[in-house]
Amino acid sequence: NNFTDLGLIPPLLARLSEMEYQQPTPIQAQAIPSVLAGRDLIAGANTGSGKTATFALPMLQKLMQYQLGQSEKSTQKGNFVTGLVLVPTRELAVQVADSIRSYAAHLNGAIKTVAVFGGVSVNKQMLALRGGSDIVVATPGRLLDLISSNAIKLDKVSTLVLDEADRMLGLGFTEELAQLLALMPAKKQTLLFSATFPLQVQSLTQTLLTDPVEIQV
Ligand code: AMP
Repeated sequence: NNFTDLGLIPPLLARLSEMEYQQPTPIQAQAIPSVLAGRDLIAGANTGSGKTATFALPMLQKLMQYQLGQSEKSTQKGNFVTGLVLVPTRELAVQVADSIRSYAAHLNGAIKTVAVFGGVSVNKQMLALRGGSDIVVATPGRLLDLISSNAIKLDKVSTLVLDEADRMLGLGFTEELAQLLALMPAKKQTLLFSATFPLQVQSLTQTLLTDPVEIQV
């Protein structure tokens, strides 16, 4: 079992071999083909399972393929973002954005990834978002602030990832999450990762996901 069998494009495969990833972890092997095929996903997975690559690699691939199908003019990003990763904490936002940028190392700078999170000045983040971004990794509260100031728009989100959904709801982000979801298109691919599945997370999966693939590792 290796990454080539999962359907990933050569620049991503080249990066994985450069990073000396010998073979996919169980969650990667089970989930990546379905995610590439456009399915929604519920994954029971902890840190260390390789969950970040499970959403990052298909997301990068989809964005690359989308850009190749667009004329230059329509790739102007405006304030719109197409890939959105919601995370519970600042630390995770930084770490996930770094991982995505690392996996994208051979995509010739085609994909811009920006991390936004609270607890620091908003100005640098607004500057980073200027000119548009393809993937935004965000904590919910700061993302809402940036939407209010028109620095970012969610109308064109085509892939939504909820990472560590149980921690996000546990930290009291339920209301923020509902506000954010209301700003996104109904038709999108949604990937939900959670270590545990308390009732709050279960009810979220029921409202948010359509015919999802379910994986527990
Ligand atoms: P994560 O569960 O996404 O936080 O990943 C945990 C760690 O495993 C990170 O340091 C990744 O770089 C690493 N990793 C993820 N997938 C693989 C793989 N297939 N082979 C080797 N290392 C991996």
